[in-house]
Amino acid sequence: MRLSTASLGLLVIGACLLICLELSWISEGSIRKTEEINKDSLSEQARGYYELYENIWKDLKYFPVPESTEDEEAEVSFENSWLFERTYGGLYGHEGTDLMPSVEKSGYYPVVSMTDGVVEKVGWLEKGGWRIGIRSIHDVYFYYAHLSSYAEDFREGDVIEAGQLLGYMGDTGYGKEEGTTGQFPVHLHVGIYVRNEEIPELAVNPYWFLKYLEQYKLKWSFS
Ligand SMILES: [Zn+2]
Repeated sequence: MRLSTASLGLLVIGACLLICLELSWISEGSIRKTEEINKDSLSEQARGYYELYENIWKDLKYFPVPESTEDEEAEVSFENSWLFERTYGGLYGHEGTDLMPSVEKSGYYPVVSMTDGVVEKVGWLEKGGWRIGIRSIHDVYFYYAHLSSYAEDFREGDVIEAGQLLGYMGDTGYGKEEGTTGQFPVHLHVGIYVRNEEIPELAVNPYWFLKYLEQYKLKWSFS
């Protein structure tokens, strides 16, 4: 059987109409479903996640790299590289956000704490290099890695204020030997980890939190 162009066209239009009707029916269905959801009916687990994320927002105060009042060229940029492939010491996903400097000089950019909190971990890590981990008031762990040096001789338990100088952006890490540098470009790796009774450690994507914090950059004099 041969179809004329006109009847073929009609067939196509008919098929499109059917698909459109089907789609609108599906979306109406899902709209009805959304209306049925309210916060009280959230499962215990979902509420747990909601609260974990809420804790992060509660504690954030400053972007971790201040703006230079002296050097207009000194900026940092970052992209959403959540779970991008990394290969040092085996294949894994990137659990953090990398702040990349426009001035690629180790020890140039100050790194400040995004939150109030307490020093939980400090010192050398094979992947993270010179790193410092701050536990914030609402129990969130903020991890700053690859520092060139520390601002002071921090110890576990030291009380930290939001905006306090932790150290300087560098390229330490990717080496068993303490002080290894030069394995990657200078940058600040930021990690955020939450926990509760059921979940001992959950890495969350820092990108959106850093995007939010861009409006809270400290202005410091460095060049
Ligand atoms: Zn990183």
